[in-house]
Amino acid sequence: MTESTTIRWEQDDTGVVTLVLDDPNQSANTMNQAFRDSLAVITDRLEAERDSLRGVILTSAKKTFFAGGDLRDLIRVTPETAQELFDGGLAIKRNLRRIETLGKPVVAAINGAALGGGFELALACHHRIALDTPGTRIGCPEVTLGLLPGGGGVVRTVRLLGIADALLKVLLQGTQYNARRARDNGLVHEVAESPEELIAKARAFIDAHPESRQPWDTPGYKIPGGTPAHPKFAANLPAFPANLRKQTNGAPYPAPRNILAAAVEGSQVDFETAQVIEARYFVELAAGQISKNMIQAFFFDLQAVNSGANRPKGVEARQVRKVAVLGAGMMGAGIAYACARAGIDVVLKDVSAEAAAKGKGYSEKLCAKAVAKGRTTQEKADALLARITPTAETADLAGCDAVIEAVFEDTALKHKVFQEIESVVAPDALLCSNTSTLPITTLAEGVERQADFIGLHFFSPVDKMPLVEIIKGERTGEEALARAFDLVRQINKTPIVVNDSRGFFTSRVIGHFINEGVAMVGEGVEPASVEQAAAQAGYPAKVLSLMDELTLTLPRKIRAETRRAVEEAGGTWTAHPAETVVDRMVDEFGRTGRSGGAGFYDYTEDGKRAGLWPGLREHFTKPGHDIPFRDMQERMLFAEALDTVRLLEEGVLTSVADANIGSVLGIGFPGWTGGVLQYINGYEGGLSGFVARARELAERYGDRFTPLALLVAKAEKGETFTDAR
Ligand code: NAD
Repeated sequence: MTESTTIRWEQDDTGVVTLVLDDPNQSANTMNQAFRDSLAVITDRLEAERDSLRGVILTSAKKTFFAGGDLRDLIRVTPETAQELFDGGLAIKRNLRRIETLGKPVVAAINGAALGGGFELALACHHRIALDTPGTRIGCPEVTLGLLPGGGGVVRTVRLLGIADALLKVLLQGTQYNARRARDNGLVHEVAESPEELIAKARAFIDAHPESRQPWDTPGYKIPGGTPAHPKFAANLPAFPANLRKQTNGAPYPAPRNILAAAVEGSQVDFETAQVIEARYFVELAAGQISKNMIQAFFFDLQAVNSGANRPKGVEARQVRKVAVLGAGMMGAGIAYACARAGIDVVLKDVSAEAAAKGKGYSEKLCAKAVAKGRTTQEKADALLARITPTAETADLAGCDAVIEAVFEDTALKHKVFQEIESVVAPDALLCSNTSTLPITTLAEGVERQADFIGLHFFSPVDKMPLVEIIKGERTGEEALARAFDLVRQINKTPIVVNDSRGFFTSRVIGHFINEGVAMVGEGVEPASVEQAAAQAGYPAKVLSLMDELTLTLPRKIRAETRRAVEEAGGTWTAHPAETVVDRMVDEFGRTGRSGGAGFYDYTEDGKRAGLWPGLREHFTKPGHDIPFRDMQERMLFAEALDTVRLLEEGVLTSVADANIGSVLGIGFPGWTGGVLQYINGYEGGLSGFVARARELAERYGDRFTPLALLVAKAEKGETFTDAR
């Protein structure tokens, strides 16, 4: 290899070399083999021609500055190939170190996203200038993929910012900064307003600093804020691991732990040794299962879902200009805000002008908060609010090209509401219902244009939750599906697509999580252990507290309706052991959940949770009746996973990526699993291991854990759950 294929050398007659990152075979520059080879060639040349050079500018010919490690390579790393990754990583690090110690000024002119590996390249430069464009994002998001920055990112951020700031501002949260915030937090030195200014500033730095070196290569350098050997730091160190556990709730996320270890250990040794320590912790994560799960879900699956792998092809994209939101309650108010934030005009209708105005009040509150926190300007907030028109008049819906209904969960009421408005809105308006449980096909019977009717299931709170579940009814047309998809993307949310069924995908599957937790209480397990098991499995909400939020009356209502439907269709109803617990809680003890002031938890007068209800132990708990903690966790995880397989078998779910993304973003399935089907793929022993374990659980806890035929067949064939694309 004597030629650089991904880094272009452009030299002017003043002795300044511009290194242009420009991989000819990819839309973004990544740390692939071609880059590793190119970097080696470029480094040799820089050293050979050192005396005739005045300085170096590193910039990109792509939209992103540099994208980082190639995730297609990383997801394939096994313990057997880990050494290769270790060696390759060290080779890059050594070359960056040679450039950093060249004795000539090297400037990163960051003209697009520099995340992960991209920021690490920039960190090896003496001076960093970021172009202030919407596309410029800077930081180390590796932790969100179960990894750590393995290209010197831990070693250099610790030396640049000090251990505490490096961990909190860059490494542990994976925050992505825009150009200005990156400067304010010390990640870059300067901001430029235009590409011309970017290069001019880079040249000015070179002119002014003919012999640059890094702070950490300057005599007398000390890590800002001290090293762990410093008494003040040492006093705080014991709290670090405990704080980390708090952050992840004790769930098995290995990346934060390795990041902490690499930062602290690396700060106590010389630069070169620190690089090796970082490489070791990086490779350990990359070879493990959890980073594979997270890369699969949060990179590949998310990209497939958002880019429209499930959107009907050939339907022209359309933007919604004016949306009617029917019902200004909790969901309607949130939906109105999300639409207005995306620039859509909203007519928010409720039964009275007061109720509609109250719904708009929700947006007013969110806007005031965003302005106070500096997340938006008063001007933008005013413009957002001006787009929402609250009303009680049907005539005000004229011209709306989409309708999102969010009135009470009642089929007859929803039919009536659609009848009132169908002839008023645009004649081809998209008709959506935000029902969380009612079959879309039945709801569609209330409108004339059934092909334009579709389910658009938002999650609460709408302004925070990134997912929308799109439900295709039996008569929903392809055009409506495409338009619903485009609408969800228009409001910057992630759409998954499922076929109609009671509870769809999300509401049905989360029910299994809750049922399993409640059933364990009924079996006599200590309720606090049940809560702890859910938290440590990585669920964001503990199971009994979630039940209280949803109310105990809701599952009874859903159960009664589902049971009626099953029996009407000639089937037999199989009771779940959770049912008797819920019935006793409501009928015997009058505890209906948080909104009723009492549920599995007690609540203070002002609605704050005040500990588990002591009566649970008295009426349900059997002292000494413990089941293994792992069983408790896996009962919840397996119950959800097994029903997801059933949904695939039933054709309600048609895509593995949708299942994975929907489960994590919509119903809190633990992120470390990479989603509910990736959890099965990544289970110890793969699908066969999962099947064997499911059989074990079935034997101990009931037939509902018996693995389905589809799962067993796949396991026997050695397959995994993946989308054929
Ligand atoms: P909510 O009780 O807070 O709000 C319902 C609103 O609809 C009320 O403001 C009511 O005045 C209004 N309304 C009733 N009849 C009306 C009519 N004829 N015309 C206009 N408005 C009318 O309920 P919510 O929690 O916002 O739920 C609304 C819908 O969203 C339900 O179908 C629910 O199943 C679904 N959903 C709820 C959640 C959730 O977490 N709460 C999540 C997803 C979906």
